Amino acid sequence: MTETLLDLHPYRNAALPVEERVADLLGRMTLEEKVGQMLQLDARDDLEDHVLRRGAGSILHTSPERIVAARELTLRTRLQIPLIVGEDCIHGHSFWPGATIYPTQLGMAASWDPSLVEKVARATAVEVAATGIHWTFSPVLCIARDLRWGRVNETFGEDPHLIGELASAMVRGYQGDGLDDPTAILATAKHFAGYSETQGGRDASEADISRRKLRSWFLPPFERVAREGCRTFMLGYQTTDGVPITLNDWLLSDVLRGEWGYTGTLITDWDNVGRMVWEQRVQPDITRAAAAAVRAGNDMIMTTPTFFEGALDAVARGLLAEDAFDAAVARILTLKFELGLFEDPRTPRADLDAVVGTPAHAGLNLDVTRRSLVLLENDGTLPLAPSATRRIAVVGPLANDAQEQLGDWAGGSGQAGWLDGQPREMITTVLDGLREIAPWEVVHARGADILTLEPDPAGATWPDGQPRPPVVRSVPADAAQIAEAVDAASSADAVITVVGDARGLYGEGRSTATLELLGGQAALLDALVESGTPVIVVLMASKPLVLPPSVQRAAAVLWVANPGMQGGRAIAELLTGAIEPTGRLPISFARHAGQQPTYYNQIRGQHGDRYADLTQAPAWAFGEGRSYTTVSYTDLMIEEPELTASATITAHVTVTNTGSRPTVETVQVYVRDEVTSVSWAEKELKTFRQVALAPGQTERVRIDFPVAECTIVDAAGARVVEPGEFALLVGPSSRDDVLLSAPFRVS
Ligand code: BGC
Repeated sequence: MTETLLDLHPYRNAALPVEERVADLLGRMTLEEKVGQMLQLDARDDLEDHVLRRGAGSILHTSPERIVAARELTLRTRLQIPLIVGEDCIHGHSFWPGATIYPTQLGMAASWDPSLVEKVARATAVEVAATGIHWTFSPVLCIARDLRWGRVNETFGEDPHLIGELASAMVRGYQGDGLDDPTAILATAKHFAGYSETQGGRDASEADISRRKLRSWFLPPFERVAREGCRTFMLGYQTTDGVPITLNDWLLSDVLRGEWGYTGTLITDWDNVGRMVWEQRVQPDITRAAAAAVRAGNDMIMTTPTFFEGALDAVARGLLAEDAFDAAVARILTLKFELGLFEDPRTPRADLDAVVGTPAHAGLNLDVTRRSLVLLENDGTLPLAPSATRRIAVVGPLANDAQEQLGDWAGGSGQAGWLDGQPREMITTVLDGLREIAPWEVVHARGADILTLEPDPAGATWPDGQPRPPVVRSVPADAAQIAEAVDAASSADAVITVVGDARGLYGEGRSTATLELLGGQAALLDALVESGTPVIVVLMASKPLVLPPSVQRAAAVLWVANPGMQGGRAIAELLTGAIEPTGRLPISFARHAGQQPTYYNQIRGQHGDRYADLTQAPAWAFGEGRSYTTVSYTDLMIEEPELTASATITAHVTVTNTGSRPTVETVQVYVRDEVTSVSWAEKELKTFRQVALAPGQTERVRIDFPVAECTIVDAAGARVVEPGEFALLVGPSSRDDVLLSAPFRVS
C-alpha cells in the first residue's frame, strides 16, 4: 500500500496510545463530521447518502454484499474513518446465511449453565467477527414478568440473579480476551432499563416503575455487566414518570455514568430520537429532540437520519454548543481504535466456510440445546421404552417446520430482507430427529394449523416508514386434519405432538392478549388424548403459554422454547432416552393470561392468596423441571448461623440420586429475609450449583455466598443488609414445598 498524506496524521499511527489518536482525529473533524459519527443508519437504505453525505459512523442490518460496499464508500470520505458495523446476533449470527443458530436466549437460560452460554457467545463472536460485523446487540437483560409481552423469548427470564450470571457470561464470550483480538466483538447490554415492565404486555408502553423498584430488581444485572466491562449499552423505548428513556438523566448520568462509573458507549434504540417527535410527542421537532438527546449523554443515535440536520440546526440556533458532541464522538472513536479498525477494517474474511456454521459449532449447539429442554410432566412414559415401542406418531404443526423452530431474530423472522430463512439442511426438526435416531417406525401427520397473517387495516407502515406487524388470525380447527392425526396416533404406541406459537405471535410490537394455543392445536390435543394412545406434548413455544385442560391427561409435557438448528435432534435424544432431561425453568408458566404476572419473587402482602375463581399459583414455577431419575435433598446445615454483614455464609446439603438414571441436578439456593423495614420479595435466588449424579450417588454440596448478597432496597433507595433473622432455602425449584429451610441471623 502506498503511503498517502493522510497516513502522516498521528491518528493513523497505530503505535500511539488510543487517547492521543482520538484527540488528534477529533481535532481534525468538522462539526458535520462529528454529528455524522454519532449516526448508526440502516444499511438497507441509501448507503451513499449515509456515508458520503451524512458521514455516518455506523451501520446496521448489513447484507453480506453491502458490508464491502459500505467500506469502499468510507475510503471516499475526507478522513476515511472506518464504519463500525452492528447487528442483532442474539442467538447466533441470526441473519448470515448458513450461520449457526442456537436456542433463543430464553431457551439457553433453561440450561442454568453460564459456562455453556459463554461458549455459545464465544463461538457466535468467531462467526460474526469473520463476516465483517463488529458489534452485536446482545445480551438482553430485561426481566420478563408479563408473559403477554412479545419479547419474552429474547430474555433470560424472570430472575435478576440468573440474568446477571448468564448475561455476564455472554458478555465475556462476545468480547473475548480484548477488543484487539480479531475474533472479539462488542457486546451490548440492553434494553436499559425497565423496558420490559410494560402496561398489559404492550410493547414499549410507559413503564410504570419507581426508582426503588428499578434499583431492587431491574438494575442489578445491568450494574453487574457495566462493572465487568460490557462495552456498550442500548436503551429501550419506554417512558417512565413521563420521561422518555432517551432523556432519562437520572438513569443515564447519575446512575450509569455516575454511580457505576460506566465509560462505555451508549446507543439509543431504533429511532428513539425521532419517536420523541412523531410517537411520544414530547418534543416539538427534530431540532429540539436532537438537542435534548445530545444533552442527555447519548453517544450513538440509531436510525434517526434526520438527527444529522436536527443537531446541526440546534447548533445554528444556539441550542447546543459546537463542542457538545466531542465526548460522544470520542467514545465512538475509542471503540474503533480499540477494535483496530483503522489498521484492519475487518471486512468479511475469504475463508468464511471454515469459520461460519462449522461442525464444531453445530456440536456446541447440540450441547446447549440438550441442556435447554425442560421436562415439565412425565407419568413414566418417557423415555420411550425400546421394548414396548414399535411405532410412534409424530404430529402437530411444529413437528416439521424448520424455520419456525428457529424463532425470532433468525433468518426468516422478518428483520432482514436479504434472506427468508436458514438453509433447510442445517436444521433438524423433531420429525427429522426421530426418523434419524428412533429405532421404531415413525408416522407423521400435521394435525393442525396455527394462524394466518393479514395486513393491518391501519396501513402497511408506521409514520417512520417501518412496516406495521401483520394481524394474526387464529385458523379454525380442521376436522379432516385432526382425524388424520388421530388415525396415525391410534396405530402407534405413543404420539409426539409438537405444538406452540409461531412467528406473528412474538417479537417487537407483537405482544399477545391471550396465551392459549391458537388454531386447531387445542382441539388436536383434546382429540389425541381421547384416542387412548399416550400423548407426549412437545411445547415449542417462544414463551410460556397456557395449555388446554386436556393436557392434564397427557403422558408427558416438554417445553423446548425455540430450540434452534439442533432442536429436533436434541428432542429426539431426550424422548428416546439417549440423554437426560436437565433443563430448569428460567420463568414461571401461568394457568391463565389473567393471572399475570406469575413470577416467583413477588412482594409479600395482599388480601388473601388467590383469585375467587382461580389460584395464583403458577402452572409450573421458576426453577422447576424433571429428570428421568429422582433426587432427594437432606441435611441442610449452616456452618455458622450467626453472621455479620461482611461474612460469607457457608452451608452444606446432601443430594442423592435415588433413581436409576444419571442426572445433572441444579441445586437452587434462595434467601428469605424474615422481617424487612419495607415490603420485599418473599424469597430470592442467591446462587445455584450444578452437580452430576450417577444413579445411587450422594454428594454433600457446599454452598457459599457473601452475606452482602442478602440485601433489600430500603425506603430511601439504598441497598442494605438489614440485621435480623433470615432463612436459607435450598432445593430443586422455587416452590415452597420442595425447599429445605435453615435459619440464620445477621447482626
Ligand atoms: C430493538 C433492538 C434491536 C434494534 C436493532 C430495535 O427495534 O428494540 O433490540 O437491537 O432494533 O435491530
